[in-house]
Amino acid sequence: MAAPFGLIRDPWTQLALGLVLGVIVALGARRASMLTTGGAIAAAVVGALTFGVGGWAPAILLLTFFVSSSLLSRQSSERKQTLAIRSAKGGRRDVWQVLANGAVPALLAVGFGLTHEDLWLVGVAGALAASNADTWATEVGVLARTPPRMITNLRPVEAGTSGAISLLGSLAALAGALLIGLVGSPFVRNTALLYIAGAGGLLASLLDSLLGATVQAQYVCPNCDHLTERHPTHTCGTATVLVSGWPWLGNDPVNLAASIAGAALTTLLWSALS
Ligand SMILES: [Zn+2]
Repeated sequence: MAAPFGLIRDPWTQLALGLVLGVIVALGARRASMLTTGGAIAAAVVGALTFGVGGWAPAILLLTFFVSSSLLSRQSSERKQTLAIRSAKGGRRDVWQVLANGAVPALLAVGFGLTHEDLWLVGVAGALAASNADTWATEVGVLARTPPRMITNLRPVEAGTSGAISLLGSLAALAGALLIGLVGSPFVRNTALLYIAGAGGLLASLLDSLLGATVQAQYVCPNCDHLTERHPTHTCGTATVLVSGWPWLGNDPVNLAASIAGAALTTLLWSALS
């Protein structure tokens, strides 16, 4: 895949083209208010490495995640606006949010570009399947009519709470992971990637929920009586109080851990089954 479709023979030309495409996509997302400036720079670097070194296959997987999760995120509704109030950073993705989902697939794409071994590409698919599963679960799960339950004690909690799971959200997670596997299968000439990325992505998103319910910092606003990721102050201006988790562990490291777990689980399953 170093010479995608045989069109580009010179690796420096491909790297330059990757940088140009990465900057174009990042600028577009920045203009559409989907990224902060730092987030756009990180996205351009992730895109440049993924296409510029990895080639078409990892780039198409990255775009599948980016486009499908962005389209779902933009389907605004009152329930999701309630969720946006709860999340730590609001709608625009910053540099840490981009790297939490983009760093692992970009590094694995570089490995694929340098070695042309399928296992690296399987890892790219696994990392992106985990991120897509998490995003789809969040975006679709909040639309459920019944409240989700905490993954640890299965008590009903408010939609959007870290660590909350629902049947609708889990089905959405599976669908998001399967889509990455479906798109990746032709590149490894094996439809087993569909099921393997589906399983790896779903398991990684459940790990994300488990970490969210246990060790990720959760705060409560004493004024609004709402659970929130916002710290030190809530949207209403009141100082938030830590109720559970480690104060230094926010959502971004949890997403990064899920991305690593998705890549690890998928490559392990691939090695064991094929
Ligand atoms: Zn408040």
